[in-house]
Amino acid sequence: MSLEAVNIITTALLIVGALVIIILERKFPYRKGLPIFRDGFWVDLIWYTFIQSFFLKIFIFDVILFPLDQHYKLSALHLVTNWPIVLQILFFVVTHDFYIYWFHRFQHENKVLWRLHEAHHSVKEVDWLAGSRSHIFEIIINQTIEFAPIILLGASPMVIPIKALIDALWGMFIHSNMDVKLGKIGNVINGPEQHLWHHADKKEVFFSNYATKFSLWDRLFHTTYLPGYKPDKYGLYYEYPKDYFVQHVFSVKRVDENKLRKNKKLKWYFDLRPVTLHWMAKHFPFKEKFKKYKNRLSVHFTDYKTS
Ligand SMILES: [Zn+2]
Ligand SMILES: [Zn+2]
Repeated sequence: MSLEAVNIITTALLIVGALVIIILERKFPYRKGLPIFRDGFWVDLIWYTFIQSFFLKIFIFDVILFPLDQHYKLSALHLVTNWPIVLQILFFVVTHDFYIYWFHRFQHENKVLWRLHEAHHSVKEVDWLAGSRSHIFEIIINQTIEFAPIILLGASPMVIPIKALIDALWGMFIHSNMDVKLGKIGNVINGPEQHLWHHADKKEVFFSNYATKFSLWDRLFHTTYLPGYKPDKYGLYYEYPKDYFVQHVFSVKRVDENKLRKNKKLKWYFDLRPVTLHWMAKHFPFKEKFKKYKNRLSVHFTDYKTS
């Protein structure tokens, strides 16, 4: 199979996987009544998922990793090239997950590293999309360390899109608002129950449930917290900005977003979103059409119920 075909298939699987998780969140919610378009939804989708990922992919691969390999020519040694592709994927998934457990743990224990991680904890209504919110430098560090060995050890080029798909699907799964009971498998595999506790606004869990894919690391290093009931609050215990750029400024300097919004020089920037939305509502009145459709639908259902 060509690399192009793998890229197309993994992209399609990502979209299908996201839709399946969204549907399952509605069918089996961990917390009832969580809206799809929750606070910060568009920032996470547009800025973190599409724009940031797009530019970071170019930066990490074309600016860091490929030139690095061209210089040292390590991939020419073909250290893992002859391994079966399944073994290559398994090897990189497990080793990277072990690394991410420890790096994640240091981020919670170190004040400077916490500034790169707090964005990820700032979502108050954690759902399938919440995992995408990660500081730009956190992604640069983690993905460079993740993909460097894949390229430098001479893995099959197909490992990159397949590993990226596994990361994305597993990320959506552990953050999803799905009521999943993993039972004994939960001692090895990480699921939403444990990771949602990691996102709880509670001091007891601030230093636990660091695992991403394998909860085994939490078991081995005694950092599991699963009390048998659900958290009542999620997110940070302090105020956190809503805007993508202010979130990044906040990691360097504790600015007051409300004051920034009143700053005359920045007014044009903060007005961009409401002005664009107003323009869209005027020219593409989807919301009105949707309302009409919803009304018609509810009339239909009322008729159905009374008949
Ligand atoms: Zn964390
Ligand atoms: Zn998370």
